Amino acid sequence: MGDARAILVTGGAGYIGSFVVRACVRSGMPAVVLDDASTGHLEAVRRAGSDVAAVRGHVGDQALVRALVTEHRITACVHLAGSSRVGESTGNPLKYFQNNVAEGVGLLEALLGAGVRQFVFSSSAAVYGPPAQVPIVEDAALRPISPYGDTKMVLERVLERLHEAHGLRYAALRYFNAAGADPESGLGEDHDPETHLIPLAVDAAMGQRPPLTVFGDDYPTPDGTCIRDYVDVRDVATAHVAALAALEGGPSLGAINLGTGRGHSVMEVLRAVTAGVGRPVPHSVGPRRAGDPPVLVASGERARTVLGWAPRYALADSVAAAAAWRRAWPRGYPAHTGAAES
Ligand code: UDP
Repeated sequence: MGDARAILVTGGAGYIGSFVVRACVRSGMPAVVLDDASTGHLEAVRRAGSDVAAVRGHVGDQALVRALVTEHRITACVHLAGSSRVGESTGNPLKYFQNNVAEGVGLLEALLGAGVRQFVFSSSAAVYGPPAQVPIVEDAALRPISPYGDTKMVLERVLERLHEAHGLRYAALRYFNAAGADPESGLGEDHDPETHLIPLAVDAAMGQRPPLTVFGDDYPTPDGTCIRDYVDVRDVATAHVAALAALEGGPSLGAINLGTGRGHSVMEVLRAVTAGVGRPVPHSVGPRRAGDPPVLVASGERARTVLGWAPRYALADSVAAAAAWRRAWPRGYPAHTGAAES
């Protein structure tokens, strides 16, 4: 409650969401989190900002969303809630269409009904599929190869239609590989199960997990391993604040890549983790993982011109932060820290 305009952050208990909450609060924008706590950590919301309201619920619960908009004077929404495992989406597409598309459409209906017309959407490089050209520009063809990528592409399309029909102003931020942590705030990456390269490599180097498997070393890249664009999660968060600021009184922004424009191979990441942890990463080479394109690197041009945003951190910074966070919280966030107020 209060007089200031507030931002509704769905999925604010998640990895990227908690950093977005922290960045909003630090920019003087009160944040209200809506999260079902199925994969996120309510403890992360507490660490992101001590007086952030956290409401446990579904984003498609229209009565709840309308009530939150009124109670907290919500003027914009950052929508990160959703299911985000590419592999899982292949085996269970309905879960993804339900959670990411149906729930997202419900959220948008409630927001528009309540007069909220500024929206920042957590999209993904997965909308592109294997790129014809790198670095990838936003108007490249969208050919997702997973149900997860499909759901992000479809909701982007919904946003464009709502822009045309109802004047919704939005930014669809297409994340590349978010990485890193913020040991000072106690925020870091803690998925269950963990599937991401950097946290797995950090844990393997610290002896907290079995040796890492490198998924293929026969790709058409200089060292044969896949190249990705790792962008620090603290930079990803500030891009959301920049998007909110640009949408406030400005035009709709459409799709914007969030990457660094620089790619690193899996082996380069393992070397960075070795340096960041101070111990080698035990690993072996295994087969390719289905659905991995050899190279995914963003063009950062549009983010620079439209948002005035450029990343401040490099891979070594992200890895150092991830390692420091893991040293401070070897078991990650406490398991299920109880219900939030609602
Ligand atoms: N990767 C790997 N071993 C692992 C996890 C990931 O070799 O145990 C590779 C993966 O094939 C990809 C890169 O690391 O090339 C980044 O994978 P991640 O799952 O972190 O992110 P994604 O690119 O799938 O979003």
